[in-house]
Amino acid sequence: MAMTLETIVKGGLCHGCGACASSLQPGRITMKLNDSGFLRPMPSGPLTENEEHIVQEVCSGAELTHRTYGRSYHPLWGPLVRTRTGFANDSEVRFSGSSGGVLSALLIYLLDHKLVDFVLHVAADSRDPFGNAVRPSRSRQEVLEAAGSRYAPSTTLADMEQYLASGATFAVVGKPCDIASLRRMGQRDSRVLRQVRYMFSFMCAGVPSRNGTLAVIDELGARADDVIAFAYRGQGWPGSARATLRDGSERRMSYRNSWGRILSRHLQFRCKICPDGTAEFADIVCGDAWYGKDGYPDFEERDGRSLILTRTREGEALLQAAVDACAITVTGFDVAEIEKIQPYQAHRKQVVLARVLALRLLGRPSPRYLGLELLKLSRSAGVRALLQGFLGTMRRVLRAQAVG
Ligand SMILES: Cc1cc2nc3c(=O)[nH]c(=O)nc-3n(C[C@H](O)[C@H](O)[C@H](O)COP(=O)(O)OP(=O)(O)OC[C@H]3O[C@@H](n4cnc5c(N)ncnc54)[C@H](O)[C@@H]3O)c2cc1C
Repeated sequence: MAMTLETIVKGGLCHGCGACASSLQPGRITMKLNDSGFLRPMPSGPLTENEEHIVQEVCSGAELTHRTYGRSYHPLWGPLVRTRTGFANDSEVRFSGSSGGVLSALLIYLLDHKLVDFVLHVAADSRDPFGNAVRPSRSRQEVLEAAGSRYAPSTTLADMEQYLASGATFAVVGKPCDIASLRRMGQRDSRVLRQVRYMFSFMCAGVPSRNGTLAVIDELGARADDVIAFAYRGQGWPGSARATLRDGSERRMSYRNSWGRILSRHLQFRCKICPDGTAEFADIVCGDAWYGKDGYPDFEERDGRSLILTRTREGEALLQAAVDACAITVTGFDVAEIEKIQPYQAHRKQVVLARVLALRLLGRPSPRYLGLELLKLSRSAGVRALLQGFLGTMRRVLRAQAVG
């Protein structure tokens, strides 16, 4: 049965990408923070049947359909051309980046070689230290200002219409769900295919709410009003969360504590049933190429290293060109080793079907996933993990008044 925007939002299937806002007439949908601290679409009035139809076409929260077009598809890691680790050769880029600065190095390469007019990505909102702003960058300096992970809601696609209407060519960096929606937009709007030359993403365990960031500030013993700038990590790998206060002082918290103890407990519901944490619809996706210790990722401070998966021929050609131009250094990485450094991503994709089944049995709205090999993965997950996934989702949904 077709889902309305209201069902998607109230059912907790919205991830806040903003594709719906960009695809309808200006002003019909505005993305706003809700009480839980997530960005959600707020329509100016009831949507028409045609508008609902457009929302369904572009929304990757309600449906993900994979067409691999014969590319080699790994059940856990999606379409793959090559898997590597690497880092930006420019030490400032590497240091500023979240892991190895590879995404920023690729963006700078595109700008330096005039392969796009600008790159569209997310930076801290200059008017709100805890908010994110989507912006076009046109220089190395602007790319560097936006480097690093922002563990907070971002509506990457909400203003896409404006950028497409300009006729410019550009690259987009977004969360996996942003890129999945952008591909869907491309199926109904040929400007996306012509003008968006590259789609980049990063591995994503989920988006924490704004309230999660405020909890970090609280734990740092600071008042939100006194904070003038906030970074989640970067300036090293993994780097620390850093709050700059009005009096010029700085408070810091380790990545292990900020992400591990606080932010990861404020994730939006949709992220828990996401089978696409590794951005299967992107041209290139980067993640943390953690080194292991005692069988677990080790968060000891080091020079940054990114995991790099190329997923399309275009992505592979671009990465190779950036390597040939000495912008990035890469080393081959065995696909069988990825699970050791990204155990969360592997586990979530294996149990996602059990979690979705729980929603269906409870009669709740649930997303449609096609072509992601979820049944095959479930069989390899083990009964205990599946049962935990199933019961955990049931408990979570029954306890919550609203999951959106
Ligand atoms: C919410 C979130 C969850 C993540 N979860 C994981 C995970 O589970 N495993 C893992 O390995 N890595 C995860 N990462 C990604 C990781 O932190 C690095 O971003 C990734 O390794 C790329 O590093 P880099 O040095 O190549 O990127 P950089 O050179 O630092 O570039 C990062 C790019 O990402 C963009 N960006 C940052 N925050 C956002 C945002 N909120 N929305 C859209 N774009 C943004 C920036 O604009 C920038 O262009 C997550 C990142 C985020 C934002």
